[in-house]
Amino acid sequence: MQKLKLLNPGPVTLTQRVRESLVKPDLCHREIEFSELQKDILSRLNKIYPESKKNGFESVLLSGSGTAAVEAMLQSVLSQDSKSLVVANGVYGERMEAMLKAQKKSFEIIKSDWSDPLDLLEVEKRIVLSKKSSIPFTHILSIHHETTTGRLNDIEGLGKLCREYGVPLLLDAVSSFAGEWIDFENWNLQAVAATANKCIHGVPGVCFVVAKKEVLNSIEGNSSSVYLDLFRYWSEQSKTGFSPFTQAVQSLFALQAALEELEEQGGWKVRHDHYLSLSEYVRDKLKQKGIDTFLASNSSYSALLTSFHMPKNRTYVELHDHLKKNGFIIYAGQGQFSGEIFRIATMGDLNIKDMETLINLI
Ligand SMILES: *Cc1c(COP(=O)(O)O)cnc(C)c1O
Repeated sequence: MQKLKLLNPGPVTLTQRVRESLVKPDLCHREIEFSELQKDILSRLNKIYPESKKNGFESVLLSGSGTAAVEAMLQSVLSQDSKSLVVANGVYGERMEAMLKAQKKSFEIIKSDWSDPLDLLEVEKRIVLSKKSSIPFTHILSIHHETTTGRLNDIEGLGKLCREYGVPLLLDAVSSFAGEWIDFENWNLQAVAATANKCIHGVPGVCFVVAKKEVLNSIEGNSSSVYLDLFRYWSEQSKTGFSPFTQAVQSLFALQAALEELEEQGGWKVRHDHYLSLSEYVRDKLKQKGIDTFLASNSSYSALLTSFHMPKNRTYVELHDHLKKNGFIIYAGQGQFSGEIFRIATMGDLNIKDMETLINLI
């Protein structure tokens, strides 16, 4: 198969070290070596943001893609008599809506246009209204980095409202964890969902939820799914290091190697700065070629993904196929934006030379 650089928002281009970690000797998930592996990963995950540990958060590992972590979080933290407010401006916010419907849990949703920021004025209005109603909101749910457009949502603003009104926040940080700042102290967070194969640079197959210990201890019986019941995973992992079901063993090998590498490279902030320098380079060079960003201001973007308008005289398929032939995978727009925008992620094992080659090809 052709060797490609992946500029989609995960799975990412792996380092050789992470790729090689996949071919370790076989390991049974009921042997002591497996529990040591899992415990090591859990402790490394807790160290990425030291404030998470300080504020009483713990990690729980699951097998599955990022969606499994988000679904397990909603499934397990929200009880059947919860009432959530979902604050959405893209595909992933709307996916939370689909999950709550499937779980038959009560919620309201504030949907902004995908090109717009979260509507925090409306959030405050609805919270105030709900406080006067018979069933006030028990939780607020949102997306940190909305990968649909590349917007880094104003979770500082949302978190401030959560704190002021005393409503806990559940956050999908699948595409921002280890690439952007997550304020475990001030956002009134109860839980955050994330994955191994985006900013952490592992392979697909494992995901995790970082949640307040007191919350993890109090959610027994909430989940109507057996497999996505965080409490079961938490109970076993925190006591013995094992998991109730067969974990994706090789994906955990890769995650361990990726976490070691992240630490050696200086942690999330160093990674963030690297992503940002690549994104800024790509945005500048494409602007010079007359290709504009989709969001009005560069400061709306995360460090790790930018959406661009397709140039008028070209189709996405033409651009994609040309780049693929020459070693790069870019990413299409989703839903209403398919064909209209393209996206370039700068996460994974990429450097400025790769970006120079990409720009020359475009
Ligand atoms: C990637 C992603 C997910 C999970 O998608 P999977 O395909 O299940 O990995 C969830 N939320 C956001 C914001 C994402 O970028």
